[in-house]
Amino acid sequence: MRGAVIHAPGDIRFETLDDPKILHPTDAVIRTAVTCVCGSDLWPYRGAEPVGGPHPMGHEYVGFVEEVGSAVTSLTPGQFVVGSFATSDNTCANCRNGFQSNCLHREFMSTCQAEYVRIPHAQGTLVATEEVPEREMWPALLAVSDVMGTGWWAADAAEVGPGSTAVVVGDGAVGLCAVIAAKEKGAERIIVMSRHESRQRLARAFGATDIVAERGEEGIERIKELTGGIGAGSVLECVGTAEAMRQALHSARPGGSVGFVGVPHDVAVDGQELFFSHVGLRGGPAPVRRYLPDLIDRVLTRRIDPGRVFDLTLPLEQVAEGYRAMDERRAVKALLTP
Ligand SMILES: [Zn+2]
Repeated sequence: MRGAVIHAPGDIRFETLDDPKILHPTDAVIRTAVTCVCGSDLWPYRGAEPVGGPHPMGHEYVGFVEEVGSAVTSLTPGQFVVGSFATSDNTCANCRNGFQSNCLHREFMSTCQAEYVRIPHAQGTLVATEEVPEREMWPALLAVSDVMGTGWWAADAAEVGPGSTAVVVGDGAVGLCAVIAAKEKGAERIIVMSRHESRQRLARAFGATDIVAERGEEGIERIKELTGGIGAGSVLECVGTAEAMRQALHSARPGGSVGFVGVPHDVAVDGQELFFSHVGLRGGPAPVRRYLPDLIDRVLTRRIDPGRVFDLTLPLEQVAEGYRAMDERRAVKALLTP
């Protein structure tokens, strides 16, 4: 089969790789329906994370079950399945507590920009749809496997509820999905920090009520102006930079909550400042598996369409162009079709 391999920053190649095989009785192998490039794939691509030796890339996938190990009883070949970037047995104590992305047997997926993928702990990780969904639904279901699940977690962690005011920091795919999540959870006011016109339009289509283009101190000032001088009850940090985290913490009101779901890079939080702010802080890799049945249902009943975050579609063999387009901000998120 063929798949994407990173050799060095800026160097993604589409290569022939070994076909994935069942290695453990709990594995499955799926044939990829669609996959994509994640904002977090850009960290090694830009050299912000070490690449090491050449290795496959990708952690987002939906596909068709091709083969299952002897211990996998809930899945059969041909089924359409949605998973998560973190595998989970869905039976251990952390899974039962709803934190499947901290499963005691967790593995992070990293080979998904390929024609076939081995899925460890398939029975706990994968959710099969009742029927094969229409092709036009695939991008939205793919979004559910990562960015939509992560946006939902941001809203959960920031305690968005009916009537609440939410600030979303970040207008990438996760930030835009966080807008969908805040809306679905009943937020009355959704303020999105964005400087890109096309992303502002999509944020509004997803339910944003206000856009703030300012950043830094001016951005914080503007949020305060819009929230009665005190800040918002819920702030969804969807970037992972020091600037975004500072923006988020200073946009929350005393007693408010910040959900941070952007993978932190050089983020430090001052203990004294946090102590006196009365702001709650929770983040981490999204427990996507917890949300899958509900989010799949919202997509299939056409309540939400997070597939709209994909603004570039390429054949999988042009995966390198997907990275380039996202790196140069010509695309929010690139969809790849095998
Ligand atoms: Zn577990």
